[in-house]
Amino acid sequence: LLFSRLIGNREALGRLRAMAASGRVPGSLLFVGPEGTGKRAAAIALAKGFNCSRVAPGGEPCEECAACLRIDRGEHPDVRRLAPEGKGGQLRVDAVRELVREIQFRPFEGRRRFFILDEADRMNESAANALLKSLEEPPPSSTLILVTAHEGDLLPTVVSRCQKIRFVPLPIEEMAEHLSKSHGLSGAEAALAAAVSGGSMKRALEIRAEEIQTLRVEALRLLEQLASEMKPSELFPLADALSRSGDKLEPFLQLMLGLLRDLTAVAAGEREKTVHVDLRPALDSLAPRASLSSWLEAYAQVEQAVRALSVYANKRLTLETMLLELSRRAATPASALAGATRP
Ligand SMILES: [Zn+2]
Repeated sequence: LLFSRLIGNREALGRLRAMAASGRVPGSLLFVGPEGTGKRAAAIALAKGFNCSRVAPGGEPCEECAACLRIDRGEHPDVRRLAPEGKGGQLRVDAVRELVREIQFRPFEGRRRFFILDEADRMNESAANALLKSLEEPPPSSTLILVTAHEGDLLPTVVSRCQKIRFVPLPIEEMAEHLSKSHGLSGAEAALAAAVSGGSMKRALEIRAEEIQTLRVEALRLLEQLASEMKPSELFPLADALSRSGDKLEPFLQLMLGLLRDLTAVAAGEREKTVHVDLRPALDSLAPRASLSSWLEAYAQVEQAVRALSVYANKRLTLETMLLELSRRAATPASALAGATRP
């Protein structure tokens, strides 16, 4: 794991690399951002930048020396990682206390000690309080890195004692390139996986290509149904089914966003900008069923639902509202609107 091989998050990675190059790093850092945006990889790259025996002047570790290899294997005595045990588990308070004790030691063989706390939000109050002591008086030769996708679940007293490094979703194009180069996906598969991932490498790798194709056909069918004036009584069962679709819901909504973006392009007369090239005939016949502004509003509605679902979880209600709003927009014929606004 090297800085130059990580994608996206130029600002965050630039700051970390500058720390490795100058040898100056705060005693406690907080890496915040959605799942799959490279936070853990960046934490390891930083630890390597300080402990690699052949680090480049720009702060880039060599990836070949004994220190780099041992950090990769999790065997370096100065680079320790702590994660919750099991799915849905907690960071154990005794493990945190052990870390607080250990963080006081000077480096065994490297230049600086790093303690990386994965999913730091999974700490109960006594674990967080045990950690606070180290955050208040950080030892001079150790750095604690808290990694979280849920900053709101951390105690404010913990957050305020760390220097925050913010990670954002990865750029889709760079992801697609990385997926085909480093994970052996075909160009088309990589483009689709990246497009439905919402900028999360973790999610892109989880979702299989055939699954995406099926979901995409379903998303298109739903938009076609919505454009043909459905009654609210027909929408509720659809919302219910969607709310039960588990981990397929997020990629499904991302695919709807992709299709709506394409429909907007077609409606705006910019057909060459469509991404789902193989679906062009279907998009061409669907696009004129609503006006450009209706497609734009429909896009905003789905985007709003995605955002709402990522924060709180009345899934069914959110999806019902989304479908009602979508059906209201997609079933407004462009020609009728044009006629109505004509003086
Ligand atoms: Zn090295």
